[in-house]
Amino acid sequence: MKPKTLIVQKYGGSSVANPERIQRVAKRIAKTSRSGKRVVVIVSALGDTTDDLLDLCGKITMNPSRRELDMLLSTGEQISTALMAMALHELGVDAISLNGFQVGIKTDSSHTRARILGIRRARVNRELGAGKVVIIAGFQGIDANMEITTLGRGGSDLTAVAVAQALSADACEIYTDVNGIYTTDPRILPEARKIDRISYEEMLEMASAGAQVMQARSIEVAGKYGVPLHVRSSMNEETGTWIIKGDKSMEKVLVRGVTASKKEAKITIADVPDRPGMAGNIFRSLAKAGINVDMIVQNVGRTGKTDISFTIPADDVSASLKAIASIRPAISKDHLIIDKHIAKVSVVGIGMRSHSGVAADMFEVLGKSRINIDMISTSEIKIAVIVKDKDTDRAVKALHDHFVTKKDRYQSV
Ligand code: ASP
Ligand code: MG
Repeated sequence: MKPKTLIVQKYGGSSVANPERIQRVAKRIAKTSRSGKRVVVIVSALGDTTDDLLDLCGKITMNPSRRELDMLLSTGEQISTALMAMALHELGVDAISLNGFQVGIKTDSSHTRARILGIRRARVNRELGAGKVVIIAGFQGIDANMEITTLGRGGSDLTAVAVAQALSADACEIYTDVNGIYTTDPRILPEARKIDRISYEEMLEMASAGAQVMQARSIEVAGKYGVPLHVRSSMNEETGTWIIKGDKSMEKVLVRGVTASKKEAKITIADVPDRPGMAGNIFRSLAKAGINVDMIVQNVGRTGKTDISFTIPADDVSASLKAIASIRPAISKDHLIIDKHIAKVSVVGIGMRSHSGVAADMFEVLGKSRINIDMISTSEIKIAVIVKDKDTDRAVKALHDHFVTKKDRYQSV
């Protein structure tokens, strides 16, 4: 007999923010289960629980042990799994909640940003075999020493992808409070459109560039194993956005989306001696501190000295300055310029691979809107610029109008 279809459903914090929403989601799960499918559910912590826990931690220490942070943060998901199982029981559905440890979600030991190494299938399969809906706590795992780990912010997405892959699920549905992935943030631009199909690569670039619907790492893993994802709303039955492997027909669209992120800062080190080893020195010290450098610009040195500018997450400014202070020979403080009032605006699309001129168009559009470009970086399927943060919304609108709304030229499908 062919085994019953297996669906993995992940519900984000906003979808389970309060008892009413938990009950609504439970009804949805019950419906899927009663239609004869096996269901595994991954839940995030209720609403803003994780942020609240971090605030609480901040009242005790500014420098928490990362192990203890994981002990703290992993509690959020344990609450939501138990409540979801109870809500299902109330509906007469047999369900069991399991945390990362009980499932056997094995990770490495990098607390607060652990990587999943493997998932044991036995327990989940046993519960499914007994006819239960299995509710798994997202965002958490366990290392080789039985220490609790977490997978980085938004990590429940990663749990869902990894579980779907491990169980060879027929579908992996990511439920959220919007109808899918949009061509740009609909809160900034009401004319943003829902995207029907987007490739893993595009979604990864968009997530890294500031689109907040899914955790970037989870997209990377989904792409690696070819787990098709369906991002949709928990509030209605509409089809959302499918994240799938890109194909030739998808390359007809030049720009899939426009994203912006204000969570960036720029550091410039002026008058760096223009000699071998300096850049290595600077960026090694940042790497050691675990800081993700995004864009880097180094100017031509004319007087034996040069300026190096780079962007980092805004939250990492003080850590970066600390790292730079450790460099020998020391860099004097008045050679450091910090700019927190920047934003990154990106256009993303696999169609750029086979079409030229997108960068020129992008710069012209910004120029016509009198928006100055501070830095530029490109990949095969993305062009990103740094602009003043006060220009962000205007830049997004101008680019979206040009590349998406007036689509005849740019989006032939
Ligand atoms: N609760 C965790 C967070 O807020 C994980 C998640 O929501 O996916 O980051
Ligand atoms: Mg969350």
